[in-house]
Amino acid sequence: PHATQFKIHPIQHCIQRVISLLDSETGRLGHQILFDAEPQPLHMLMDQDKMLQMLLNLIKNAFEAMPDQGFVHIRLYVDNGSAVIEIADTGSGIPEEELDKIFLPFYTTKESGTGLGLSICHKIVQDHEGTMEVESVIGQGTKFIITVPIAQPEG
Ligand code: ADP
Ligand code: MG
Repeated sequence: PHATQFKIHPIQHCIQRVISLLDSETGRLGHQILFDAEPQPLHMLMDQDKMLQMLLNLIKNAFEAMPDQGFVHIRLYVDNGSAVIEIADTGSGIPEEELDKIFLPFYTTKESGTGLGLSICHKIVQDHEGTMEVESVIGQGTKFIITVPIAQPEG
């Protein structure tokens, strides 16, 4: 059977968990992850494992785009009644003419890449009624912007 696990969770917790999961790899690579969030918890209806997988994929891509020590800046805020998660890196950037291909399955510029990461991320965000956008500047870095509906915690 198709098992889905949609429950209301604070988005902050989910992001903190991904940062802890990556803690040793982040240190080993000499990167830093900065997390700026609203002080009050922001909740959303999520399949937590899928959200973790999505965030993990995006941060892994960020690490792979930063050959030297780099920064991943994660921001969480409210815009127009929705929650916005931004993940910005200081990596290589993506050429403008490739920006519309990166979400396609099997599109990769890596020698041993599968090109599946971002298409899965995109599907996960869509399954959460959200949207995903990308902005990039060659030589400066890339920012993924995920917008999802906010849910009211129960009780
Ligand atoms: P893979 O990581 O296996 O190549 P993805 O679907 O995760 O597949 O990413 C597709 C392509 O998009 C990558 O090969 C890379 O060219 C580009 N890309 C994704 N994220 C970033 C990023 N943060 N910085 C630069 N390029 C990126
Ligand atoms: Mg990837």
